[in-house]
Amino acid sequence: TRTPLMAGNWKMNLDWKQGLALVEELGEQLKEVDTTKVETVVLPPFVDLRTVQVAVDAGKLPIAYGSQDISAHESGAYTGEVSGAMLSALGCTYAAVGHSERRQYHGETEEVTNAKVKAAFASGLVPILCVGEPLEERKAGKHVEYTLAQLEGGIEGITAEQAAKIVIAYEPVWAIGTGEVATPDDAQEVCSAIREALRAMHGDTVADAVRVLYGGSVKSSNVGELMQRADVDGALVGGASLKAEEFAKIAGFQ
Ligand code: 13P
Repeated sequence: TRTPLMAGNWKMNLDWKQGLALVEELGEQLKEVDTTKVETVVLPPFVDLRTVQVAVDAGKLPIAYGSQDISAHESGAYTGEVSGAMLSALGCTYAAVGHSERRQYHGETEEVTNAKVKAAFASGLVPILCVGEPLEERKAGKHVEYTLAQLEGGIEGITAEQAAKIVIAYEPVWAIGTGEVATPDDAQEVCSAIREALRAMHGDTVADAVRVLYGGSVKSSNVGELMQRADVDGALVGGASLKAEEFAKIAGFQ
Protein backbone atom coordinates (compact mmCIF):
# COMPACT_ATOMS: atom_id res chain seq x y z
CA THR A 1 0.00 0.00 0.00
CA ARG A 2 1.13 3.50 -0.84
CA THR A 3 1.58 6.18 1.82
CA PRO A 4 -0.39 9.27 0.79
CA LEU A 5 1.78 12.28 0.03
CA MET A 6 0.68 15.89 0.43
CA ALA A 7 3.15 18.36 -1.06
CA GLY A 8 2.91 22.12 -0.73
CA ASN A 9 4.42 24.07 -3.61
CA TRP A 10 4.95 27.57 -2.26
CA LYS A 11 5.94 28.85 -5.72
CA MET A 12 7.46 32.37 -5.52
CA ASN A 13 5.87 33.20 -2.17
CA LEU A 14 7.19 33.66 1.39
CA ASP A 15 10.64 35.06 2.19
CA TRP A 16 12.77 33.13 4.69
CA LYS A 17 11.16 34.72 7.75
CA GLN A 18 7.66 34.04 6.48
CA GLY A 19 8.71 30.54 5.46
CA LEU A 20 10.09 29.90 8.93
CA ALA A 21 6.84 31.07 10.53
CA LEU A 22 4.81 28.81 8.24
CA VAL A 23 6.92 25.71 8.87
CA GLU A 24 6.85 26.20 12.64
CA GLU A 25 3.09 26.73 12.61
CA LEU A 26 2.64 23.72 10.33
CA GLY A 27 4.62 21.64 12.81
CA GLU A 28 2.19 22.73 15.54
CA GLN A 29 -0.90 22.02 13.43
CA LEU A 30 0.38 18.59 12.41
CA LYS A 31 0.20 17.50 16.06
CA GLU A 32 -3.51 16.99 15.31
CA VAL A 33 -2.69 14.69 12.38
CA ASP A 34 -1.60 11.04 12.42
CA THR A 35 1.65 11.66 10.57
CA THR A 36 2.43 7.95 10.36
CA LYS A 37 -0.38 7.72 7.78
CA VAL A 38 0.60 10.59 5.49
CA GLU A 39 3.79 12.18 4.26
CA THR A 40 3.80 15.97 4.43
CA VAL A 41 6.22 17.82 2.18
CA VAL A 42 6.93 21.49 1.54
CA LEU A 43 8.63 22.90 -1.55
CA PRO A 44 9.86 26.39 -0.58
CA PRO A 45 11.87 28.81 -2.73
CA PHE A 46 15.60 27.96 -2.79
CA VAL A 47 16.50 30.85 -0.48
CA ASP A 48 14.19 29.51 2.26
CA LEU A 49 15.55 25.96 2.26
CA ARG A 50 18.35 26.42 4.79
CA THR A 51 15.94 28.01 7.27
CA VAL A 52 13.43 25.21 6.75
CA GLN A 53 16.17 22.65 7.31
CA VAL A 54 17.19 24.21 10.63
CA ALA A 55 13.57 24.52 11.83
CA VAL A 56 12.67 20.94 10.86
CA ASP A 57 15.82 19.56 12.52
CA ALA A 58 15.49 21.65 15.67
CA GLY A 59 11.80 20.83 16.17
CA LYS A 60 12.05 17.26 14.82
CA LEU A 61 9.03 18.24 12.73
CA PRO A 62 7.25 15.55 10.69
CA ILE A 63 7.81 17.56 7.52
CA ALA A 64 9.95 16.63 4.53
CA TYR A 65 11.07 19.29 2.10
CA GLY A 66 12.42 19.78 -1.36
CA SER A 67 12.98 22.23 -4.16
CA GLN A 68 10.67 23.54 -6.88
CA ASP A 69 13.29 23.02 -9.55
CA ILE A 70 16.80 21.61 -9.98
CA SER A 71 19.64 22.15 -12.40
CA ALA A 72 20.08 19.55 -15.13
CA HIS A 73 23.84 19.99 -14.66
CA GLU A 74 26.15 18.63 -12.01
CA SER A 75 28.25 21.71 -11.21
CA GLY A 76 30.24 24.49 -12.81
CA ALA A 77 29.61 27.51 -15.00
CA TYR A 78 25.80 27.60 -14.91
CA THR A 79 25.00 31.03 -13.49
CA GLY A 80 21.85 31.13 -11.43
CA GLU A 81 21.41 27.36 -11.20
CA VAL A 82 21.24 25.16 -8.10
CA SER A 83 22.59 21.62 -8.25
CA GLY A 84 21.14 18.40 -6.90
CA ALA A 85 24.19 17.94 -4.66
CA MET A 86 23.54 21.35 -3.06
CA LEU A 87 19.91 20.44 -2.41
CA SER A 88 20.82 17.06 -1.06
CA ALA A 89 23.32 18.70 1.33
CA LEU A 90 20.42 20.77 2.70
CA GLY A 91 18.50 17.64 3.60
CA CYS A 92 16.06 17.89 0.72
CA THR A 93 14.42 14.63 -0.21
CA TYR A 94 12.32 15.80 -3.18
CA ALA A 95 12.75 18.03 -6.21
CA ALA A 96 9.83 19.14 -8.35
CA VAL A 97 10.61 18.87 -12.04
CA GLY A 98 8.74 20.08 -15.11
CA HIS A 99 6.08 22.14 -13.38
CA SER A 100 3.82 23.69 -16.02
CA GLU A 101 5.04 27.14 -14.97
CA ARG A 102 8.63 26.06 -15.72
CA ARG A 103 7.54 24.67 -19.07
CA GLN A 104 5.42 27.69 -19.93
CA TYR A 105 7.47 30.64 -18.65
CA HIS A 106 10.98 29.24 -18.77
CA GLY A 107 10.84 27.26 -21.98
CA GLU A 108 11.66 23.92 -20.37
CA THR A 109 11.48 21.23 -23.00
CA GLU A 110 10.87 17.50 -22.66
CA GLU A 111 14.63 16.93 -22.95
CA VAL A 112 15.43 19.39 -20.17
CA THR A 113 12.75 17.89 -17.96
CA ASN A 114 14.14 14.40 -18.54
CA ALA A 115 17.68 15.60 -17.74
CA LYS A 116 16.41 17.16 -14.50
CA VAL A 117 14.66 13.94 -13.47
CA LYS A 118 17.98 12.13 -13.95
CA ALA A 119 19.90 14.87 -12.11
CA ALA A 120 17.57 14.51 -9.13
CA PHE A 121 18.08 10.74 -8.97
CA ALA A 122 21.84 11.16 -9.38
CA SER A 123 21.87 13.24 -6.17
CA GLY A 124 19.63 10.90 -4.21
CA LEU A 125 16.55 13.10 -4.53
CA VAL A 126 13.11 11.86 -5.52
CA PRO A 127 11.78 13.83 -8.47
CA ILE A 128 8.16 14.95 -8.41
CA LEU A 129 7.54 15.01 -12.15
CA CYS A 130 4.69 17.34 -13.06
CA VAL A 131 2.57 16.61 -16.12
CA GLY A 132 -0.82 17.76 -17.34
CA GLU A 133 -2.67 19.21 -20.27
CA PRO A 134 -3.66 22.79 -21.16
CA LEU A 135 -7.33 23.65 -21.68
CA GLU A 136 -7.15 23.26 -25.45
CA GLU A 137 -6.11 19.61 -25.24
CA ARG A 138 -8.76 18.92 -22.64
CA LYS A 139 -11.44 20.44 -24.90
CA ALA A 140 -10.20 18.34 -27.80
CA GLY A 141 -10.41 15.19 -25.67
CA LYS A 142 -6.64 14.71 -25.95
CA HIS A 143 -5.81 15.13 -22.27
CA VAL A 144 -4.75 11.53 -21.64
CA GLU A 145 -2.65 11.26 -24.78
CA TYR A 146 -0.96 14.63 -24.09
CA THR A 147 -0.21 13.83 -20.46
CA LEU A 148 1.16 10.37 -21.21
CA ALA A 149 3.48 11.82 -23.84
CA GLN A 150 4.87 14.17 -21.18
CA LEU A 151 5.23 11.24 -18.80
CA GLU A 152 7.11 9.12 -21.33
CA GLY A 153 9.40 12.02 -22.27
CA GLY A 154 10.05 12.89 -18.66
CA ILE A 155 11.04 9.43 -17.48
CA GLU A 156 12.81 8.20 -20.60
CA GLY A 157 15.85 6.10 -19.74
CA ILE A 158 15.25 5.76 -15.99
CA THR A 159 15.63 2.35 -14.35
CA ALA A 160 12.76 0.29 -12.92
CA GLU A 161 14.14 0.94 -9.44
CA GLN A 162 13.97 4.69 -10.07
CA ALA A 163 10.51 4.39 -11.63
CA ALA A 164 9.20 2.79 -8.43
CA LYS A 165 10.44 5.76 -6.40
CA ILE A 166 9.39 8.65 -8.63
CA VAL A 167 6.33 10.72 -7.79
CA ILE A 168 4.14 11.83 -10.68
CA ALA A 169 1.93 14.88 -10.21
CA TYR A 170 -0.97 15.24 -12.61
CA GLU A 171 -1.71 18.94 -12.79
CA PRO A 172 -4.07 19.99 -15.55
CA VAL A 173 -3.00 23.52 -16.45
CA TRP A 174 -6.58 24.81 -16.52
CA ALA A 175 -7.04 23.81 -12.86
CA ILE A 176 -3.91 25.54 -11.52
CA GLY A 177 -4.62 28.68 -9.53
CA THR A 178 -8.03 29.03 -11.14
CA GLY A 179 -10.23 27.67 -8.37
CA GLU A 180 -11.48 25.22 -10.95
CA VAL A 181 -10.60 21.82 -9.47
CA ALA A 182 -10.81 18.76 -11.71
CA THR A 183 -13.66 16.45 -10.73
CA PRO A 184 -12.60 13.32 -8.85
CA ASP A 185 -13.53 11.35 -11.99
CA ASP A 186 -11.31 13.53 -14.17
CA ALA A 187 -8.41 13.18 -11.74
CA GLN A 188 -8.92 9.42 -11.45
CA GLU A 189 -9.08 8.96 -15.23
CA VAL A 190 -5.67 10.48 -15.84
CA CYS A 191 -3.97 9.25 -12.65
CA SER A 192 -5.06 5.73 -13.56
CA ALA A 193 -3.82 6.13 -17.14
CA ILE A 194 -0.44 7.24 -15.73
CA ARG A 195 -0.23 4.16 -13.50
CA GLU A 196 -1.21 1.84 -16.36
CA ALA A 197 1.41 3.41 -18.64
CA LEU A 198 4.01 2.75 -15.92
CA ARG A 199 2.72 -0.83 -15.65
CA ALA A 200 3.21 -1.34 -19.38
CA MET A 201 6.75 0.09 -19.18
CA HIS A 202 8.02 -1.33 -15.89
CA GLY A 203 5.58 -3.98 -14.61
CA ASP A 204 3.30 -4.45 -11.61
CA THR A 205 5.78 -3.83 -8.80
CA VAL A 206 6.61 -0.38 -10.13
CA ALA A 207 3.03 0.52 -11.04
CA ASP A 208 1.70 -0.50 -7.63
CA ALA A 209 4.45 1.36 -5.76
CA VAL A 210 4.55 4.68 -7.57
CA ARG A 211 2.62 7.57 -6.11
CA VAL A 212 0.50 9.64 -8.44
CA LEU A 213 -0.68 13.00 -7.11
CA TYR A 214 -3.36 15.34 -8.33
CA GLY A 215 -2.73 19.09 -8.36
CA GLY A 216 -4.84 22.12 -9.24
CA SER A 217 -6.99 24.13 -6.83
CA VAL A 218 -6.83 21.49 -4.08
CA LYS A 219 -8.27 22.68 -0.76
CA SER A 220 -9.22 21.00 2.52
CA SER A 221 -12.83 21.04 1.30
CA ASN A 222 -12.20 19.03 -1.86
CA VAL A 223 -9.19 16.83 -1.00
CA GLY A 224 -11.28 14.12 0.70
CA GLU A 225 -13.27 13.12 -2.34
CA LEU A 226 -10.21 13.26 -4.59
CA MET A 227 -8.37 10.93 -2.20
CA GLN A 228 -11.19 8.41 -2.32
CA ARG A 229 -10.25 7.57 -5.89
CA ALA A 230 -8.13 4.45 -6.28
CA ASP A 231 -5.27 5.98 -8.24
CA VAL A 232 -5.00 9.37 -6.51
CA ASP A 233 -2.28 8.98 -3.87
CA GLY A 234 -1.96 12.57 -2.73
CA ALA A 235 -1.98 16.17 -3.82
CA LEU A 236 0.38 18.87 -5.04
CA VAL A 237 -1.02 22.00 -3.48
CA GLY A 238 -0.23 25.60 -4.39
CA GLY A 239 -2.27 28.41 -2.84
CA ALA A 240 -3.77 26.32 -0.03
CA SER A 241 -0.29 25.29 1.17
CA LEU A 242 0.53 28.86 2.19
CA LYS A 243 -1.68 28.68 5.28
CA ALA A 244 -0.53 26.25 7.99
CA GLU A 245 -3.97 25.39 9.31
CA GLU A 246 -5.41 24.76 5.86
CA PHE A 247 -2.45 22.67 4.69
CA ALA A 248 -2.49 20.62 7.90
CA LYS A 249 -6.18 19.95 7.27
CA ILE A 250 -5.27 18.71 3.81
CA ALA A 251 -2.63 16.43 5.34
CA GLY A 252 -5.26 15.21 7.80
CA PHE A 253 -7.82 14.41 5.11
CA GLN A 254 -8.47 10.89 6.48
P1 13P B 1 -3.00 25.76 -6.89
O1 13P B 1 -3.21 24.76 -5.78
O2 13P B 1 -2.75 27.15 -6.38
O3 13P B 1 -4.04 25.67 -7.94
O4 13P B 1 -1.60 25.35 -7.60
C1 13P B 1 -1.40 24.04 -8.02
C2 13P B 1 0.02 23.87 -8.40
O5 13P B 1 0.46 24.33 -9.43
C3 13P B 1 0.89 23.14 -7.47
O6 13P B 1 2.12 22.84 -8.06
